Amino acid sequence: MERTKCLIIGSGPAGYTAAIYASRANIAPILYAGIQPGGQLITTTEIENFPGYPEGVQGFDMMEDLRKQAVRFGADVRNGVVAKTDFSKRPFIVTIDDGNEIEAETVIIATGASAKYLGIEDEKKYNGAGVSACATCDGFFYRKKVVAVVGGGDTACEEAVYLSNLASKVYMIVRKDYLRASKVMQQRVAEKENIEILFNTNTLSLYGENKVQGAHLVKFKGTDKEQPFDIAIDGFFLAIGHKPNTDVFNGQINLDEQGYIKTEGQTTATNVAGVFAAGDVADPRYRQAITSAGMGCKAALDVEKFLVENNIK
Ligand code: NDP
Repeated sequence: MERTKCLIIGSGPAGYTAAIYASRANIAPILYAGIQPGGQLITTTEIENFPGYPEGVQGFDMMEDLRKQAVRFGADVRNGVVAKTDFSKRPFIVTIDDGNEIEAETVIIATGASAKYLGIEDEKKYNGAGVSACATCDGFFYRKKVVAVVGGGDTACEEAVYLSNLASKVYMIVRKDYLRASKVMQQRVAEKENIEILFNTNTLSLYGENKVQGAHLVKFKGTDKEQPFDIAIDGFFLAIGHKPNTDVFNGQINLDEQGYIKTEGQTTATNVAGVFAAGDVADPRYRQAITSAGMGCKAALDVEKFLVENNIK
């Protein structure tokens, strides 16, 4: 069976940064890139808030640069998805979907999170053509336009406030008759004159020629007061939460009630000695490329220390 001192699972900013640091430390990590090599940023257009790119950078290009940087120092970057893990004893056994089994002295989990979608067909149809799950990524393209944000939590409020500074008008589509968000976020929404909250409202579908031009909505769905109506919009933003990609680790490692991996204190250590977690999979709060990259760096440093302390060569 193939053996490695460090197996990195995931290829977003956390995974690649961990690979850069681990390979420069002569650990010769193997990285499996997962279902979407490059991670969530691959689906973004321009990234303007990653330090070091004064003119901005395309998400695809940045992830390709990170991959090349990891490979340059000797990281073994492979395509493949982890199908099964056995963290019950060290070395850990990780099974890849092609059947390959790897013995790993340490594992860095950097499998990220996925934005939740409503599950309607039109979300796919208009993906990249008016549908987005990231206001800070794509909001800029909706200057002086009309957009809608779906959701009533802190994320939705934050995104609505962010978008209200760019767009001419922001609708919030909220399925209940109240916002779940914290009082302070609700207050910020209330202070914005160009945000209109549509309570008790669900989205049926989107319409438009080649791009989103509007949404078919319904108020009081499933009651005798049910009332369909349309809004004209240029952008449709999902903010109904994220789902950490931890299904394959369920039962192997401690997760919080939302499924995020729990890490210890300021470190990336999990409850299993030798297994570390970095990026969105362990971070429900910040979820930024730069914070994920920072955690990836920390994970590689934690691995390096672990290997030394356990005299693993
Ligand atoms: P939440 O789970 O808090 O909110 C999700 C929202 O989306 C709810 O309003 C929910 O409605 C709605 N929703 C979920 N599924 C659907 C659906 N299928 N159709 C329509 N609406 C749907 O997620 P958030 O991402 O907002 O927040 C996650 C965590 O992160 C929270 O703990 C939050 O407090 C925290 N956070 C904190 C921030 C801050 O402090 N500034 C910023 C961002 C997040 P319903 O209420 O009906 O369930």
